Amino acid sequence: MSLKQYQAGDLNLYALLFILLLIMEFFVPMRTLSSYFHIAMTGIASAERILDLMKRKTDFSYGEADYQKESDLSVRHLSYSYADGFEALTDLTMQFPYQQLTAIVGPSGSGKSTLAALLAGQYQTKEGQVFCGNLPFQELKKDEIAKNVIRISHDGHLFQDTLKNNLRLAKEEATEEEMIRVLEKVGLLDFFKTREGLETMILSQGKNLSGGQAQRVCLARALLFDAQVYIFDEASSNVDSTSEKIILEQIYRLSQEKTVVYISHRLDTVKEASNIYVLNHGHLIEHGQHDQLMKEKGLYKKLYQEQTAIDRFLTDDLTEEELDDLEDVTSEAELVDLGDSASEAELDDLGDGISENELDDLGAPTTRERKTVANRARKDLRGEKG
Ligand code: ADP
Repeated sequence: MSLKQYQAGDLNLYALLFILLLIMEFFVPMRTLSSYFHIAMTGIASAERILDLMKRKTDFSYGEADYQKESDLSVRHLSYSYADGFEALTDLTMQFPYQQLTAIVGPSGSGKSTLAALLAGQYQTKEGQVFCGNLPFQELKKDEIAKNVIRISHDGHLFQDTLKNNLRLAKEEATEEEMIRVLEKVGLLDFFKTREGLETMILSQGKNLSGGQAQRVCLARALLFDAQVYIFDEASSNVDSTSEKIILEQIYRLSQEKTVVYISHRLDTVKEASNIYVLNHGHLIEHGQHDQLMKEKGLYKKLYQEQTAIDRFLTDDLTEEELDDLEDVTSEAELVDLGDSASEAELDDLGDGISENELDDLGAPTTRERKTVANRARKDLRGEKG
């Protein structure tokens, strides 16, 4: 049967339409097949990555011991080199006491995340050891670290599924009451009540939530997990100020019950820590409480003062002296690096208010020029007309 037959009158219009519909029916599965093919290829790529990860982990050594609950975490003479031979950590000895919050700070690239990965059992090293109580990690049974130590980073993953199922990844048997309790702790219960409660659909990577909300769901999930040790690796970074406040409150509260390791480049968030370790180029260079470190006039004090000046640059009037201290700040990237109080979004807004040239000019401006730019930036942030 063909168009020629139709033209020749051998085929009526209905028969032709029927054929056309059949053709469409035929192409739909073909199209679906091609999208399944795409999904399958993505799946294969992911599986390869997972296998690669599993293969790498076979180098790890394990023992027969259980995790020592309610014990301190510590590292002794710990060094770590990456596969390319780069030594990221050198001879670290540190204590992370049970029921305390210990902070790790230091410039970008100083080794904070590498240390977090070692503490969470994600990396192993032959140089030095991580201990729970007196037990080296390498004497623990295979899954003991994963069951007892949780690392929460700034980009925790949320899956395309209901809120309930995202939370239950941490504790399969969690009751609705337990889930509601953790959502309340992170200040999200009212928000999800206005949606569909625990049945609210979350898009992949929390795309239908704000950054701060997504991060708070990740925190709620971690609280549900009920670990012995919580490692927060920049977990309160790059979120709105309300989310940051809630996350910090929960982290400090948690440290009354658990061992908390808190990594941040924002020094104003570590002031209450029981102990602060300062890393630089993979070396431990200072430690102590905030007040002690401020007296030492070392790197901590320098970083703290730079950040305070930047915070005030964005929110308040600066003194001439503080403006002089800002002289080294030359680029937007450095503003971010210094861990100022502005979120990425605020910095983007700032970018709109100030031209690239003006930002560049910040490197070598006169005091008057700097004041003008600072005032414009402040007005922009407050939404005032310039
Ligand atoms: P921080 O968390 O303080 O920013 P990191 O622990 O991420 O620092 O990195 C410490 C150092 O190790 C940096 O110099 C970084 O470039 C290097 N590094 C990190 N990951 C790798 C890797 N996979 N391979 C080689 N070097 C790495």
